[in-house]
Amino acid sequence: MNEFEDRHLRQKRLAGFGEEGQRRLRESRVLVVGCGALGTVVSEQLVRAGVGTVTIVDRDIVDVTNLQRQTLFTTRDAERRVPKAEAAKARLAQVDPGVAVRAIVDDVHAGNALRYCADHDLVVDCLDNFETRYVLNDCAVSLGIPLVYGGAVGFRGMAAVLLPVTGAERRVIAYDAARAGPCLRCLAPQPPEPGEVETCDSVGVLSSAAGIAASLEAGFALRLLAETPLSVEPALVRFDLATGSFSSASLLGARDPDCSACGRRVFEFLAQTDRHGATGDSGDFMASRPRVLCGRNAVEIPLGAPLSPASRDRIAARMAACGEVRRESFGGSESISCAWSEPTGARSLVVVAATDSTRALVGGSDDPEVARSVVARVLG
Ligand SMILES: [Zn+2]
Repeated sequence: MNEFEDRHLRQKRLAGFGEEGQRRLRESRVLVVGCGALGTVVSEQLVRAGVGTVTIVDRDIVDVTNLQRQTLFTTRDAERRVPKAEAAKARLAQVDPGVAVRAIVDDVHAGNALRYCADHDLVVDCLDNFETRYVLNDCAVSLGIPLVYGGAVGFRGMAAVLLPVTGAERRVIAYDAARAGPCLRCLAPQPPEPGEVETCDSVGVLSSAAGIAASLEAGFALRLLAETPLSVEPALVRFDLATGSFSSASLLGARDPDCSACGRRVFEFLAQTDRHGATGDSGDFMASRPRVLCGRNAVEIPLGAPLSPASRDRIAARMAACGEVRRESFGGSESISCAWSEPTGARSLVVVAATDSTRALVGGSDDPEVARSVVARVLG
């Protein structure tokens, strides 16, 4: 390969990167949790940088309202109701077929998070969902893996890098105790109450704010993976594009020695499996917890384990009683959708049958009870 054929040439010239940094990136495995405004940008930057394996977990399908800021997706993906993880994987395979991109269509929760995190050198939280962030913090501390997280809402955003205390010798990212910092629970022992924080649903989000937060996350991730010697320190960056202000704070020394997670190693958020365990293999959707999707007038209901081809056919046949059924396959996933109108309004139902899970998305209402009744009526 001559210099002009080297796609990572500009990156290797960076201080601390070089051929060695590129080799480390190639050997790295990164878990990107969430493939929305942050996750699309982060996973694209990781793939373009030559990270060896990028695993993307997301439970949602591409919606037309995502396209304003979720940079890997197209109108066609929204029309075909492609699961975001699969759409991202397909696009990223065109960017660099040499990177192994794994798409997992699933919700990350206390019951599966440790399994998804365990095989990776770094976790990048792109969810902007506090409950899951605390679950991922428990995983990061428990496994001794760095956690990068970010968020954006309105014109503002933030990103942080956490290097949990660890005695483990990590595969790619190694650091000594002097560089370790607080975990999320050292900084805020409990997640905010629902309604306590603004969401993109309540105040909107500027794509640039999401893009900057995601680029900060990817920047932390790439430096953590490539740099020799490692110069990344635990830090929190905040910005506001309405005023043009940026601030950065080192988190070195912010550790709470009495922290229940990184101090006493009690992983409360990982222990909350009872809320999700019931949805695992029982197939009883009434036992599972619906989620109202931010800004979408839609509700998602986990339906449990993956479906056999025969079950998919049976579901499609039942849905045909409501309206015209459309079936689209991508990778190992299939979406089965139909739309109809009823006296209380327009409704749509999409069943996303993936290799890892099955979920229903009910459109036309943000009322979980309405969504449950639609699923019960149509799917039985
Ligand atoms: Zn802590």
